[in-house]
Amino acid sequence: MKYFGSHISSAGGVENAPLNAKEIGATAFALFTKNQRQWVASPLTEKSITLFKERCEEFGYTPDNILPHDSYLINLCHHDDIALTKSRNAFLDEMQRCEQLGLNRLNFHPGSHLKTISEERAIELVAESINITLKQTEGVIAVIENTAGQGTNMGYCFEHLKGMIDLVEDKSRVGVCLDTCHTFASGYDLSSKTACDETFKLFDEIIGFKYLKGMHLNDAMKPLGSRIDRHSSLGNGFIGYDAFDYIAKDKRFDDIPLILETPDSTIWNEEIEWLKERAK
Ligand SMILES: [Zn+2]
Ligand SMILES: [Zn+2]
Repeated sequence: MKYFGSHISSAGGVENAPLNAKEIGATAFALFTKNQRQWVASPLTEKSITLFKERCEEFGYTPDNILPHDSYLINLCHHDDIALTKSRNAFLDEMQRCEQLGLNRLNFHPGSHLKTISEERAIELVAESINITLKQTEGVIAVIENTAGQGTNMGYCFEHLKGMIDLVEDKSRVGVCLDTCHTFASGYDLSSKTACDETFKLFDEIIGFKYLKGMHLNDAMKPLGSRIDRHSSLGNGFIGYDAFDYIAKDKRFDDIPLILETPDSTIWNEEIEWLKERAK
């Protein structure tokens, strides 16, 4: 079964997310459980948590269809001890929020080396951050997102993600989220069925589909290998419709949240409908 949705607003409280998702015909959704541009947020209230769970149940969303995303401020491979601790504490808070909401995965960006440490060291630090957090939580999978490789962002090649997974002690609680725009921008072609075959074969060889816990479906505003993270609506960028048709039809992408982060939220319902049609 395929589950499609988008990264929807949880303005006014996380309990509004399932409502907003339902409204656009989504069968999956992503959300921030706190303001993504602030370090500290007030704790989730009992009322919010209860309503969130009730509405998810009412509308048929299970934890396997929901992909929370953490704050953009967090850098789990920061070279500075104080900054690293701040990021790790914020990451733990994000994980605990997911636990409270009964969710089973948290999507995050690995972080940036800021030209202060080697990529190898950055990989070690990300894995160490994951290990520390997993020990203090239960039931939530740390889902590492691949990146476009803009600036000093880590995670722009499958080998980075593989290196992090290798160093995580509890392999049952680590996974990856592939963002199609990031994949393409970092140099893996997706612009035809053949290109998709090759890219996902490589993904399977290096990482393995069993680690795939979600996808972000975005077209790319910039060409292959640009390393620039600019999303486009489906079919409106350099990737084109073929890749999204491919993903909608391919069984390897079943039973995980497939999430749009495309720029025009007014057509999300149409994009979701288009994907559902392709998956039939
Ligand atoms: Zn992301
Ligand atoms: Zn993404």
